[in-house]
Amino acid sequence: MVAIGIDLGGTKIQGVATKGDEVVGEAKVATPTGGVEAVVEAIVTCVARLDAPASAPVGVGAAGVVDTETGTLLQAPNLAGFDGPVPFGPLLAEALDTRVTVDNDANVAVLAEHLMGAGRGANDLLGVWVGTGIGGGLILDGCLRRGPGGGAGEIGHMALVGTTRMCTCGMVGHLEAIAGRAAMEAEARRRHAAISAGTPTLMVELAGDKRMKSSVFAKALDAGDAVVSELLDEAVVALGTVIASAATLVDLDRVVVGGGLAEKLGPSFVGRIEQAVRSRLFVPTSPLRVLPASLGDLAGALGAARLSDL
Ligand SMILES: [Zn+2]
Repeated sequence: MVAIGIDLGGTKIQGVATKGDEVVGEAKVATPTGGVEAVVEAIVTCVARLDAPASAPVGVGAAGVVDTETGTLLQAPNLAGFDGPVPFGPLLAEALDTRVTVDNDANVAVLAEHLMGAGRGANDLLGVWVGTGIGGGLILDGCLRRGPGGGAGEIGHMALVGTTRMCTCGMVGHLEAIAGRAAMEAEARRRHAAISAGTPTLMVELAGDKRMKSSVFAKALDAGDAVVSELLDEAVVALGTVIASAATLVDLDRVVVGGGLAEKLGPSFVGRIEQAVRSRLFVPTSPLRVLPASLGDLAGALGAARLSDL
């Protein structure tokens, strides 16, 4: 049976049509900034381009907090015009005239890695997505864990002691405020511009006034830039500390690390995270492995396509 998966992000909408593990169609459109109706229309366009049977069920992984029972998007700060709870699943089901299931984008990405990627065969799996922010998803006893509030797996908002950096969520000392791309960009710019003891960094020279892409981090690292090295060292320690804490609490057999920045920095970055985790595990004989995610950009859409099977 053909199923459709949609990854609804802040900048793009990625769609796939799948038959089991096989991808039979792909389509991508930009995420409109005109609010809910415009986004529903853009998804209808994306689905039409997939050329799938009209009755194919649609799964959506959305950037935000989702009530999966009702398909309501409770909070979606990265989607323009989604203020307050939006009954997104029902609206889309009406527009497409088919069954629609909605979940969080990080959750569906870890679901895909669990079913067909680097997390295959792991019963207790954590997915960590290091990009602009830090997302996460948790599989326990082979099932996606959502939790009573829908926030299970949100590893980016676990707190570390000894840091006062402000997180995008408004709280202090969260992992995302140290190891997220946007947080590291802000810190690099702050250090570069510090008046009395500023440290010029290639990161700012390469990015200029534009968004500091993941490729800028990789280039500056290759060139031996001191600031990017320090920021990434701090990120590795913070990621290692929080992942080891999570593994100590629930006992994991695998962690997959993906997301734009992790992908750009490659397996050596993930290897450093694994070392940082291993040296902090309470049970040193734990079989836990930390591996690079293997499905890349399509993980979210592939996982969303499997939502109708759950
Ligand atoms: Zn936070």
